[in-house]
Amino acid sequence: MATLELINVTKRFGSTEVVRDVNLSIRTGEFFVFVGPSGCGKSTILRMMAGLESVSSGEIRIDGTAINDKPAAERGFAMVFQSYSLYPHMTVRQNLAFGLENIGTARPEINRRIEETARLLRIDSYLDRRPKALSGGQRQRAAIGRAVVREPAMFLFDEPLSNLDPELRVAMRIEIGTIHARLGNTMIYVTHDQLEAMSMADRICVLRDGQVEQIGAPLDLYNRPANRFVAGFIGNPR
Ligand code: ADP
Ligand code: MG
Repeated sequence: MATLELINVTKRFGSTEVVRDVNLSIRTGEFFVFVGPSGCGKSTILRMMAGLESVSSGEIRIDGTAINDKPAAERGFAMVFQSYSLYPHMTVRQNLAFGLENIGTARPEINRRIEETARLLRIDSYLDRRPKALSGGQRQRAAIGRAVVREPAMFLFDEPLSNLDPELRVAMRIEIGTIHARLGNTMIYVTHDQLEAMSMADRICVLRDGQVEQIGAPLDLYNRPANRFVAGFIGNPR
């Protein structure tokens, strides 16, 4: 587990700056949420952290060391996306094992981790089913399981619940909170849903057009929004 910092991070696609001079520091074990309207750069920031997208300028650091040039596989992140991204031809158990097999984890260790993850996420009963035989909630649990089984230093969630119906979203919010409480890992979570952000975050970073508008605890943002945009998005408009 580690402190993650972004120092003057900027991302350009061609001549368009989609992330501008972002500075922030995420503490070990923190549940840190990025929130902001569609297109404001949330996914791009996560993808740069994960190493799936290069940084145009600035630095991403873990415990003070720049990781800009470190390959994704060596960064210690596990990412969960909005689309379930499970391999359709594999069972849940095979989906969970796949990433570990690739890095040469021994079979008994793979089995131990799958058991533990299945218990934590309550996916035991459908480990031997394929994704198409699962409900939306079961699939998303399995997708989270695939991240948990890797025992990453940090989790990156990109709108993981936005394809689920409202009732299930609330249930899964609580579930992710429980995983966080149990594992204590740093969790970096993207959403455009302010209620989700307010209920899950230790701190929230509000983004607009690729820039940080405000970072703070949910109640601080609610009670003391830095500007009208933050107030309109999550704050208490006075
Ligand atoms: P969000 O996740 O907040 O909805 P994104 O990070 O996906 O926003 O996108 C931020 C901006 O960058 C958008 O305007 C999007 O069109 C643009 N963008 C994202 N990826 C690319 C890409 N690979 N090439 C060009 N533009 C991109
Ligand atoms: Mg996105």
